[in-house]
Amino acid sequence: MIKLAQCCTPVPFDDIVGFVTRGRGITIHRLNCSNIRLLLNDKNRIKKAEWGKAKRNFNVAFKVKAYDRINLLKDIISIITDTKIIINSASAKAIGNKIAVCSFLVEISDNEQLQSIFSKIQNVQNVIKVYRVDNI
Ligand SMILES: [Zn+2]
Repeated sequence: MIKLAQCCTPVPFDDIVGFVTRGRGITIHRLNCSNIRLLLNDKNRIKKAEWGKAKRNFNVAFKVKAYDRINLLKDIISIITDTKIIINSASAKAIGNKIAVCSFLVEISDNEQLQSIFSKIQNVQNVIKVYRVDNI
């Protein structure tokens, strides 16, 4: 039995490894997952893994740091929905010094699609950086 790790939410075609869990089959993690990094030398429990061809959507979380302004969240949301990507959650929080952090949970088909919205969001006025997170 194979399942995707909750801690690092891998999507196609991230670099991944399989981790043999006791009694629960194999869990797929991103290669740079902090939970797995220390275990990478454990040859008995770490297995090579590759993405298959199954077509489905994957949840992925990311954040956008920006200089706060009116309509910031609205502008980013409209860029995402223009690409037909489903947004499961979107929120914005001011963190002081006129900086805001917007958090998103979206459904995407693969990493390429994610990188393409990242570069569009990066071009939104006032955006400082866009980065993937394990959870929001
Ligand atoms: Zn992980």
